[in-house]
Amino acid sequence: MNAETGVACMLRYDLHCHSTHSDGLLAPSELVRRAAQRGVDVLALTDHDEVSGLAEARAHARELGLRLIDGVEISVTWSNLTLHVLGLRVDPECAVLRDGLATIRVGRTGRARRIGDALAAAGVHEAYEGARRYVTSERLISRTHFARFLVDAGHAREMKDVFRRFLVPGKPGHVAHDWARLPDAIDWIHAAGGQAVLAHPGRYKLSATGLRELLAEFRDAGGDGIEVLSPSHSGAQVAEFARKARTFGLLASAGSDYHGAGESYVDLGDMPPLPAGLTPVWQSW
Ligand code: AMP
Ligand code: MN
Ligand code: MN
Ligand code: MN
Repeated sequence: MNAETGVACMLRYDLHCHSTHSDGLLAPSELVRRAAQRGVDVLALTDHDEVSGLAEARAHARELGLRLIDGVEISVTWSNLTLHVLGLRVDPECAVLRDGLATIRVGRTGRARRIGDALAAAGVHEAYEGARRYVTSERLISRTHFARFLVDAGHAREMKDVFRRFLVPGKPGHVAHDWARLPDAIDWIHAAGGQAVLAHPGRYKLSATGLRELLAEFRDAGGDGIEVLSPSHSGAQVAEFARKARTFGLLASAGSDYHGAGESYVDLGDMPPLPAGLTPVWQSW
């Protein structure tokens, strides 16, 4: 609160985005600069299964007067579904976290080869080699790199089109994969001193019962919060997840999930304020 004007100083938070260290289009330094230009005060870089971009982001954030939060987005398998769990304020040097993430990244390489084989069986040849050309960190390959290859090779019109026609359950190029276990991901984040936040809960296509089961299990495993504000959520879902956060006693987070121009619905920092009556994940920061 500003003592003279009585106006609350609202900081702009964006606690979810990706750099070239996973499947984003901007280098950490470029991402941080764009965030600062767009008026973001507090930014978490949350690359998939990777913390190697944080040092560069931190160095540039300091120069720009932006507060950088060390983050990560961990891929998890729960009940035959892939979930994403954000770690916020993690220590990127924590060996437990680093070892867990390294195991997931190794799994990604084997999975990518299987995706290549599955696409070849559907008549799309040399997709693994093609996707490799879009990789921006030797340490990590994702479906996004396959998607960029498939668009540029003329197999799909745009990224959204790829994820309708390829790489998803029931479509060419989908392969089953085992990611980390939910309790392990939460434990790694806590071992690294961070908070565990369930990313974009609206993305998982769960029934009402399935969602309650997930949130109960997530909370009982020590999960700290859920991402209420996400471009993956409709207005109704924002209201729904705000209610769930209150019911389950979970903190609330907000993130743009920015990957780069032309690949994201929402730009860095472009989110409304959190709904009332929630405890923000940053309350104690
Ligand atoms: P992976 O972690 O390798 O399974 O890749 C998942 C990534 O694919 C997500 O983090 C998104 O960046 C991207 N993705 C998934 N679904 C879509 C979609 N419908 N449109 C655009 N990108 C998507
Ligand atoms: Mn991604
Ligand atoms: Mn995600
Ligand atoms: Mn993400």
